[in-house]
Amino acid sequence: MSSQNSSRIHPNDPLWSKALTLHKKAIVIDTHSDLPMRMLDDNVDISKRRDKGHQDIPRMLEGGLDTQFLAIYISNEYAGNSAMKRAIEMVEPVFAALDQHAESIELATSPSDICRLKKEGKIAAVLALEGGHALEGSLLALKLFYRIGFRYMTLTHIRHNDLSDSSTDEPKHNGLSDLGKEMVREMNRLGMMVDVSHISDAAFWDVLKTSSAPVLATHSSAREIASLPRNMSDEMIQAMAERGGVIQLCFGSAFLHPAWAERGKEVFRRINESKSGALDLWSKIWAELNESDPLPQPQIDDLIAHIDHVVKLVGVDHVGLGSDYDGVDYVPEGLDDVSMLPNITFALCKKGYSDAAIEKILGGNLLRLWQEVEKTAALKHS
Ligand SMILES: [Zn+2]
Repeated sequence: MSSQNSSRIHPNDPLWSKALTLHKKAIVIDTHSDLPMRMLDDNVDISKRRDKGHQDIPRMLEGGLDTQFLAIYISNEYAGNSAMKRAIEMVEPVFAALDQHAESIELATSPSDICRLKKEGKIAAVLALEGGHALEGSLLALKLFYRIGFRYMTLTHIRHNDLSDSSTDEPKHNGLSDLGKEMVREMNRLGMMVDVSHISDAAFWDVLKTSSAPVLATHSSAREIASLPRNMSDEMIQAMAERGGVIQLCFGSAFLHPAWAERGKEVFRRINESKSGALDLWSKIWAELNESDPLPQPQIDDLIAHIDHVVKLVGVDHVGLGSDYDGVDYVPEGLDDVSMLPNITFALCKKGYSDAAIEKILGGNLLRLWQEVEKTAALKHS
């Protein structure tokens, strides 16, 4: 798929240059990408433009992306089976790439790093742990991951683990486990953001009761529109927003479009039958279903509909972007890869969102949340 400007929607519209100017000025933050898994498993060299996948440095720069949270994603199949080793193996190629390409990308561990790197014209890379089973039950490991630079943790993935139930698996703890609650309190103490994407609804409410800091969903969308259990109900979005939290919308077609969400539920049903935690199975089942009965590709307006929905529900201070690029296989037309992020800004301008509102959605809300989490943290660098 072309990743040149030709895929942009309305380059001749006079609003396009205004949108591009605003996009360049804003701090653009994406809270979820699975690029590290591609770096480890597929030897992806992020300095080179690929014709596959969604992200690399050239396309990030072209898309005006300022900050990318990089998920160290640990499949549930590693739980109890070298999960921490898998995390260490995945984070090393990220550090190696940061060393090698220091002129264009740098590790960020605070909101002030994000602002500094924006001024320097470099991409800020923030580490994130997806799958709390990688800690193998150790609070000390959580602290060490924080010290390495990890700034949020997704408590589990598509299956329950020792910390939490999952939105796509049978409950084991009826929410968070006692260890899960302890981890959330320790994350608050450290200043690590708590990600409620993937966890069950009961676990979500446990997190809200347990966390002294606002929380975020790093890659989920609105269940009211796309009824995937991975998405958040209006009640959840409202409760999270009341406490200063943010929903960072996922670009995966199943997260955005009603018909795709129905198919997503069928994919999860088949994965559950197989008892596997593996992502490659997810891709295989999706490909089979889409081949036998293709669905129309969602459009960028399907993402904008989720933004509108959240804004109507809780205002403009609680929504942002969490693409899940290089983790999902199907994305809307016009968001085919990271180079196309300005299309979102254009679509929001077209809809009449103010410049200030657009800057919040593109990254301002996430920065505010992170600053809050830092403020409530007890541990500085002791
Ligand atoms: Zn995920």
